[in-house]
Amino acid sequence: MLAAVSTPSFRPSSQATAASRDRDDACPGALRLHTADDGALARIRIPGGVLRVDQAQALGRAARDLGDGELHLTSRGNVQLRGLESGCGAELAQRLSNAGLLPSWRHERVRNVVASPLSGLDGRGFVDVQPWLRELDALVCASEAAARLSGRFLFALDDGRGDVATLGADVTVRAAPGGGAWLRVGASDAVVSVRFEEAPRAALLAAEVFLEAADGRAWRMSELTGQTSVLVSETVRRLQAAEPTATPAWRVTAEPPSGPVTAANGTTSLSVLAPLGRLTAPQWSELTASAVHELRLTPWRGVILPTAPTSRLSHLAAAGLITDPASPWAGVGACIGRPGCAKSHADVRADAATALGPTGGLPVYWSGCERRCGRPRGDHVDVVAEQGGGHQVSVVRDGLAQAMPRNPSQLAATVAAARTQDHSHDQ
Ligand code: SF4
Repeated sequence: MLAAVSTPSFRPSSQATAASRDRDDACPGALRLHTADDGALARIRIPGGVLRVDQAQALGRAARDLGDGELHLTSRGNVQLRGLESGCGAELAQRLSNAGLLPSWRHERVRNVVASPLSGLDGRGFVDVQPWLRELDALVCASEAAARLSGRFLFALDDGRGDVATLGADVTVRAAPGGGAWLRVGASDAVVSVRFEEAPRAALLAAEVFLEAADGRAWRMSELTGQTSVLVSETVRRLQAAEPTATPAWRVTAEPPSGPVTAANGTTSLSVLAPLGRLTAPQWSELTASAVHELRLTPWRGVILPTAPTSRLSHLAAAGLITDPASPWAGVGACIGRPGCAKSHADVRADAATALGPTGGLPVYWSGCERRCGRPRGDHVDVVAEQGGGHQVSVVRDGLAQAMPRNPSQLAATVAAARTQDHSHDQ
């Protein structure tokens, strides 16, 4: 049993950075709607992206009855409903609560957990993270302190394959070979070894240590510049864990490709992508009709249907979902852009659709303005609409952006070249 040692007075000696909470955390939620140009917007946290079929049906009905009928998948496997009437908040909350999607109203915006979506389905990874997911969510909802986390704080539960461990979470738990787990705080270059059954509690404890250190001045670990080692030390002390060790080489696995997923025992599951993360009402209906017991929304704006038969793939493809890994939509993302967002300089979704190119290469993300909401972590091609027209195309590798030459009449070709550009000889 993990023996956590509480020290309420814990404060790091140096100061949190200035990039701190000088304003309220305005992150939208299911109970705090955001006003957009196309109506009110609700962001519903779905820990691990896991939805029972009845919950998915309830979400579809809420989108249809209260909003514009569509469901938008986010880069954390959450769902956004758009085009809502401004006065529908109480009814939406009641519907979500009835479906079991609001287990704690006080924690509704802080249940941000990504988890390896194929865990337990394809024989890869060291463990099935679903038990971790359920326990961590229950612990977060039971924690008074955790209610003070920001809507941006992120937990990641990786089954060892290295998919969600690379998403820049504030607290990452990754299954280790041999049955244990590694706990990583922010972008620390050290990990703390914990036992399998201790992992969810250790993750919450690391978040609680962060809250004490941040003292209301930071939303995310990365804002406590220079504090990570102090946070790791305090977490280790309270866990009574062994000293941290250097972060092992993180194996990195790409997002699940579209199509059937087969386990060693022959069981199949299905993986599909939603073009630009946007699911129409008929597409959502087809997904819920194809699901056997649950759906898993991925941080790459896809959906996994555990144990669903391959015969459903043709139905899903006919509905416009991506079932072929060679689809030109694979790896293409975009923010909402015009007309949904007033800040956008262009209809970047339409731009992305007209600039689809060959499959493969780096993922590409289209943003309507410099804020780049929802852009992916890691290497990618960054396309940003500019005031007055035109787009800036850049290749982002290792956090550094290299602009492509401007050629407005050849935007699709520029994006395609950026996605496949060979940087192996760069200095
Ligand atoms: S990146 Fe800009 S245009 Fe796109 S959703 Fe965010 S604020 Fe709006």
